[in-house]
Amino acid sequence: MTQPIELTAPNNTTYLQPTRPFINNEFVLSLSGQTLSTVNLFVESVIVSVSSAGPDNSDLAVAAAQKAFKSSEWKSVTGYDRGVLLTRLAELCDRDKHILATIDAWDNGKPYEQALNEDLAEVVSIFRYYGGWADKIHGQTIPTSDAKLAYTRHATIGVCGQIIPWNYPAMMAAWKLGPALACGNTVVIKEAEQTPLSILYLATLIREAGFPAGVVNVVNGPGATAGASIASHPGIDKIAFTRSTITGRAIMKAAASNLKTITLETGGKSPLVVFEDANLDQAVKWSHVGIMSNMGQICTSTSRIYVHDSAYETFVNHGPQVSAAQRDRILRYFEAAKKEGATIVLGENQPPNNAKGYFAHPIIFKDTDRNMTPEVFGPFVGIHQQDAIDKANDTEYGLGAAIFTENITRAHTVAAAIEAGIVWINSSQDSHFAIPFGGYKQSGIGRELGEYALSAYTQVKVVHVNLGTWLQI
Ligand code: ADP
Repeated sequence: MTQPIELTAPNNTTYLQPTRPFINNEFVLSLSGQTLSTVNLFVESVIVSVSSAGPDNSDLAVAAAQKAFKSSEWKSVTGYDRGVLLTRLAELCDRDKHILATIDAWDNGKPYEQALNEDLAEVVSIFRYYGGWADKIHGQTIPTSDAKLAYTRHATIGVCGQIIPWNYPAMMAAWKLGPALACGNTVVIKEAEQTPLSILYLATLIREAGFPAGVVNVVNGPGATAGASIASHPGIDKIAFTRSTITGRAIMKAAASNLKTITLETGGKSPLVVFEDANLDQAVKWSHVGIMSNMGQICTSTSRIYVHDSAYETFVNHGPQVSAAQRDRILRYFEAAKKEGATIVLGENQPPNNAKGYFAHPIIFKDTDRNMTPEVFGPFVGIHQQDAIDKANDTEYGLGAAIFTENITRAHTVAAAIEAGIVWINSSQDSHFAIPFGGYKQSGIGRELGEYALSAYTQVKVVHVNLGTWLQI
């Protein structure tokens, strides 16, 4: 395979698409000899075949990152200069945002406008934001007595392995690269096998920005081979991962081999609670945003909605289902849930079989538990009044939660009681690069974004200085 290759994307952008692993600032041959194909999801045709890195490539990438980490070329780059490099990278991403957005729209299937105005806007902001932090990472002095000086240094960790998902390809890369590089680490990053293209393009910009060879290395490939070899690699000091809880667990297990520092942003099943005093127009609008954004492919999607009885009729005011088959499916689940013993509040009076239109009347179970609510794709919701908080917390996950109320006291007391890393009051899915992101329980470990992400990419060293001998003079 020649490399890179010229591609014309759907909006007629022509660009050079790298297709090989990126190690030591070069696109290198894959040692596995295997390829993976990225697919145009609209027409199911292959966009391009990308070389798939095997464990041998991971070894080379880790060796390059280790060498760069120890090299004076990278060590002598001051915090201020790392900030300059990141800011330059932000400018290059801004310059090429149409190409990057085109690639992600193509590779991931998301609308181009969304890729451009949301994902790429955030990529640029994140590199600028962490460029700003790079020379502001410092420790504390801790006074204890006149005889002693103690201070902390927020030191680099070393080689960071980063494994990212397919739902926001370039953006997830920026979330992870920004703080890691601001703190002075080196990186081996693996993008998801479904969406490898934008990160490989980003690698060309990293090189152009002036990052020394080996500071950022990109390996393509499947999770079971390329991903697993990073998670278990003894030369990697930290692992950061985003996506499913199951894979997160496997990565954590593999990372235990050399006690890697770990950051996991895993799954969610986030609640959205609408109280009786909520502004219903807002609640409906954000409920839609909360589950439909990015085609529902967000780990913080608010996929469990709890609505107070008095607001319910207005909240679910809705039209027919998409087909007779879908309406029948909803009604079949309804019958099955009844058989499982659910208590029905509303929904017994469904339209007769010969009624016109594919309508299913709203169905409410008072005591719905998780086992009784499969994914139905219809007006099928559990209602809980007294126990909104208990129900909201009745999940192994704890990533996001949305609350709708106009009562300021209730808003803050419920926000405090909800077991989730992110709570939205009167919205859903709000996110900002300056605000930490991450979950409780099975939704992850550690926080990304904001100043908090810096602690995920530094380790604290404490220095004790004995001044006692001078005091005796
Ligand atoms: P999905 O099920 O949506 O594909 P995953 O959590 O399996 O989500 O994948 C997210 C990322 O984790 C991808 O980059 C994938 O290649 C990687 N991955 C999958 N399995 C493993 C594994 N066992 N070890 C390391 N990385 C993995």
